[in-house]
Amino acid sequence: MKDEIDRDEVASALKEKGATNKCHRCNAREFSVLKGYSSVSLGELRSSGHIFEGAALPVVSVACNNCGAITQHALGALL
Ligand SMILES: [Zn+2]
Repeated sequence: MKDEIDRDEVASALKEKGATNKCHRCNAREFSVLKGYSSVSLGELRSSGHIFEGAALPVVSVACNNCGAITQHALGALL
């Protein structure tokens, strides 16, 4: 993985895949790909009832320029 995510490349991949719907909260059409990435922890619930930490899935966040609602996309699906 590169040291820094190319936000233009992420925006192009989202367009190419048809992820161009209006904001799910306010219906605005302008978004920004946020700098950096986040990790979603994929924990496991065992039959004992204990939750174990699992792998971390890197995700990129896209924010609505109007209301700030944030949508996450798995980085591996885009780059
Ligand atoms: Zn919005």
